Amino acid sequence: MSEAQAQQPRNCVSCGRSISWDANVCPYCGHDFRAQAYASQPRGETISSGVKILFYLLSFFIPIVGFIIGAIYYSKPEPELKETGKMCLILAVLSIVIAVVCWGGIIGLGFLAT
Ligand SMILES: [Zn+2]
Repeated sequence: MSEAQAQQPRNCVSCGRSISWDANVCPYCGHDFRAQAYASQPRGETISSGVKILFYLLSFFIPIVGFIIGAIYYSKPEPELKETGKMCLILAVLSIVIAVVCWGGIIGLGFLAT
């Protein structure tokens, strides 16, 4: 997309009304232009290593988030995203296992102490 093209007023592809060129969502019908621009990227989705680490941390500390992220990314066609999703699922499971073991240990010790 060139600068000149971007500055032009445009019409919503969904409802045909004139909207500002930089609008992300049509104010009339709610058509989301970001989703369309994202989908039309030819090289497919990529994920930065920073975001990956964030996802891994979230998966470990909030397993339910890990399962959600993992399920979403594991269903993606790109191998890199699939791998990230798999890691999120593994970390989420690992986190739950560790939590169960720890709580089991604490409860076990509690029984021993009484
Ligand atoms: Zn519209």
